[in-house]
This record gives sequence, structure tokens and C-alpha cells, in this order.
Amino acid sequence: MTQFVSQRAEPTASTIRCPSCSGRGTVNALTNFDPHARRNERAHCIPCAGTGVIKSSATICYEILSEVKKVAPDLNGHRLLLRVNPDIARALKEEESAVLKDLRQSLGRDVTVKADEHLHHEQFDVMAV
Ligand SMILES: [Zn+2]
Repeated sequence: MTQFVSQRAEPTASTIRCPSCSGRGTVNALTNFDPHARRNERAHCIPCAGTGVIKSSATICYEILSEVKKVAPDLNGHRLLLRVNPDIARALKEEESAVLKDLRQSLGRDVTVKADEHLHHEQFDVMAV
């Protein structure tokens, strides 16, 4: 049996309760190790890394904004491509659309947002294309 170190945190201003595990830090994982038996195991929740909280979409959007402002002087006429988790891509189109507008204005050019389900909620790539 796997023991989990309790390192769960309470949501703060910049984080939200992890929706995948409802803040528990672990999820049920059913393993089919035999056609006639199933093992019900507790597994570490991947999106929150077992902490029970994840950064809010707004927090990540502002991290993207500050990252883009760092690389902006080196773009040399290239366009910008943002690869983000689908949750963040949706947030950038909806409630955080002001962030994207701010980005486009400060760069003076268009910014392409690409949703990538392989990216972790808090992961993003800023690329010149
Ligand atoms: Zn979780």
C-alpha cells in the first residue's frame, strides 16, 4: 500500500481547489490487473501533484503575460504562439480575454493561442514563430 505524505494546502487568492480530486490530493484509480478482479487504489492526483490546490486560471494568465513581456523585445518581427492547457485557452478567450488583448496591444501584433491537452494546467510554452 502506498502512503501519501500529507502536504495539502488550502486555496489562497491565487489558487483554487483542485477540480480533479475535489481538494483531496488523491484520486481513485481502478486497476484491471486480472479479468475477474479489480483493485481500487488511491493514486496521487496529477493536476495538483497531491496538494489539493491548483493555480487559478487568472493566475496562470498573468504569469503568461509577464513571461511574454520578458521575451517581447527579442521577437524581431516574429509572431507569438502560446501553447497552453485547454482550460487556459478557454479562459484566455472568455473571462481572461483582457489579458490577451493586453498582450496583442503591447506586442503590436497577433498572438496565436493553441490548446494542448498534453500540457499540465500550470504549464505553458511561449514561442516565436
Ligand atoms: Zn488534485
